[in-house]
Amino acid sequence: MKFDLDDRLRSQLAGKLAQFPRTPLGHFPTPLEPMDRLSEALGGPRFWVKRDDCTGLSSGGNKTRKLEFLMADAQQQGADTIITQGATQSNHARQTAAAAAKLNLECHILLEDRTGSNDPSYNLNGNVLLDRLHGASVSRRPGGADMQAEMETLASKLRAQGKSPYVVPGGGSNAIGALGYVECARELTEQAANIGLEIDALVHATGSSGTQAGLVAGMSALKVDFNVLGIGVRAPKEKQEGMVYDLAVKTADRLGTEPVARDRVIANCDYVGPGYGLPTDGMVSAIKLLAQTEGLLFDPVYSGKALDGLIDLTRKGHFEGLRNVVFLHTGGSAGLFGYPDAFDLPD
Ligand SMILES: *Cc1c(COP(=O)(O)O)cnc(C)c1O
Repeated sequence: MKFDLDDRLRSQLAGKLAQFPRTPLGHFPTPLEPMDRLSEALGGPRFWVKRDDCTGLSSGGNKTRKLEFLMADAQQQGADTIITQGATQSNHARQTAAAAAKLNLECHILLEDRTGSNDPSYNLNGNVLLDRLHGASVSRRPGGADMQAEMETLASKLRAQGKSPYVVPGGGSNAIGALGYVECARELTEQAANIGLEIDALVHATGSSGTQAGLVAGMSALKVDFNVLGIGVRAPKEKQEGMVYDLAVKTADRLGTEPVARDRVIANCDYVGPGYGLPTDGMVSAIKLLAQTEGLLFDPVYSGKALDGLIDLTRKGHFEGLRNVVFLHTGGSAGLFGYPDAFDLPD
């Protein structure tokens, strides 16, 4: 009975999502795999990983799902040029540059210097290397710049030159991009149902908030009762939860689904450390542990800090009594090459 109901809710949600144009860019569904060596190392629930690092586009990551909806919108509006912004080692910028290349659109990326690092690897390798390899034009702005205003200024300039620019917000996080994570909620619950897996909690990194907003809107529409826990990488808890909630409400509104309850939005922002993009000891240990127990690569800015949270919260008993906890791997391993000195590895 329950199975039939869940199935019906998933097809209804698929129907709602089908109202929106979507340009195929990635490999879906992404795998859902057990992390048995990690589960063994930590004790506690069985851990699973949803492999959104394997979306296929330019080494993958969570922005691919958002870009399928955003790029379709850009194409529908007749855009010939894409503008977006992010931090220097932005995974979003890299995936946007790749998507633009694939769709024959010009791409302009504005990178904000949020860390003040002078390390040439940070400034030129990793995602920055790939932005340029994909043919995007890259320009820099100082930390604290009004990046939305910078993009609008560039858009006006390009319009005056006869171009039709489309501005993708930072992280692809608006009610269009977040549809990608509504779809992920549908995909993940379908996969779990197919293998008889009962998910008790879903944990992931939350930044510009489109990922969690889409997931929460999707899980509300599916009437799923497990928690989606975002581990923050920048803002304090109250601000982060506020951003996610606002966007989840807009996303549900756009889709025409169930309103989202405020208490569905939970962020833990205790693992940011000294600031966005700045390494922490916990992140370094978490990335090493996963690389050495599961053969998986996580990133220093987002998924590594979220894993630090997952591991620490497990050790503190936060998941006690739960059977299955899924970690959504949002990608970002290209960013490792921007932080070669963070890991203090033996020669
Ligand atoms: C952008 C990003 C996130 C955060 O997703 P938001 O939708 O911005 O909250 C998490 N992990 C990685 C690797 C990212 O690049």
